Amino acid sequence: MKKKDLKYFKEHLQKWLTELSQGDDCNFENLVATEEQLPDLVDRASQTVERNYAEHFCNRKNLLGRKIEKALQDIEDGTYGICEQCGDDIAIERLKARPVTRYCIDCKTSMERVERAVGR
Ligand SMILES: [Zn+2]
Repeated sequence: MKKKDLKYFKEHLQKWLTELSQGDDCNFENLVATEEQLPDLVDRASQTVERNYAEHFCNRKNLLGRKIEKALQDIEDGTYGICEQCGDDIAIERLKARPVTRYCIDCKTSMERVERAVGR
């Protein structure tokens, strides 16, 4: 990959990571405390749903954060934009659409075909 492109993705990924860490706080202790203070069962139930949602949201966010960090690490290592499966370069257009992708479109497509075949 060209230096100019690497620089572009590095800046893009760093910005993304910063934006991600500036989002809503994932403060579960707070949520648990509120739940315990609610005597009404209906409120408690909806509180639990909200907490589950918050956990789900934060897990997804953490997962994405890790993917971005890995991509930034790859840029440092000089392996960014190389498909983990076949070792070919991933198309720039694909990386621009999905900067944290680790596979070229061919490998991704065949993986998805396998996933569908096993009924997931
Ligand atoms: Zn590939």
